[in-house]
Amino acid sequence: MSYVIPAAPPVSVPVLGTSDRFPVHRIYCVGRNYEEHAKEMGFTGREPPFFFLKPADALVVVNAGETGTMPYPSLTQNLHHEIELVVAIGTGGRNITAADAHKHIYGYAVGLDMTRRDLQNEMKKQGRPWCIGKGFDHSAPIGPITPVAQAGDLEQAAIWLKVNGQERQSSQISKLIWNIAETIEHLSAAWELSPGDLIYTGTPEGVSAVVKGDLLEGGVGGLGQLSLRIA
Ligand code: MN
Repeated sequence: MSYVIPAAPPVSVPVLGTSDRFPVHRIYCVGRNYEEHAKEMGFTGREPPFFFLKPADALVVVNAGETGTMPYPSLTQNLHHEIELVVAIGTGGRNITAADAHKHIYGYAVGLDMTRRDLQNEMKKQGRPWCIGKGFDHSAPIGPITPVAQAGDLEQAAIWLKVNGQERQSSQISKLIWNIAETIEHLSAAWELSPGDLIYTGTPEGVSAVVKGDLLEGGVGGLGQLSLRIA
């Protein structure tokens, strides 16, 4: 058997402290999952979680100790950073209960849900899909995956982002509106999760614009740091 056109190369993320890699299937993202970020986007109150996707090949994979590069995307004048905890699914399933959710997690990473905010806002206004604002090329920078056993208690971890050394986002994973287990419960009711799925769990308040040349440095306690230059 041969392919009639070149097959896309598989997408994978390094596993911290090993030469092994985590093969990526899909990228799910949770919208407005911290109260103070929901407020800054003009929403209040707890609503059921909602989801969008990015293509797997939108990842910008950044190795430990390195600074990745993201080209400033086309069509936008308002590229926003969203620092996020990323959950890596090791065992798939559907209708996973929150009580069972942790058995399905392989590990965690630090990710950036980069957003063309002007395009996203225009799509919201028109009631159209967010894809052009969220699912564009290079829109999902990610650091190495830390296996669960080495990650510590993430529910108590800090999450933060600096741009050019200045703090822009600073919060706690405990402030997730829908925690990791609840997110997996809701997500797996809507899609069958597969090994290799990544879940960007949402961003805290403080999102704002970056420009060419900016250095983004973000982290989640216990998972190390993600560094990214906008080129
Ligand atoms: Mn986000």
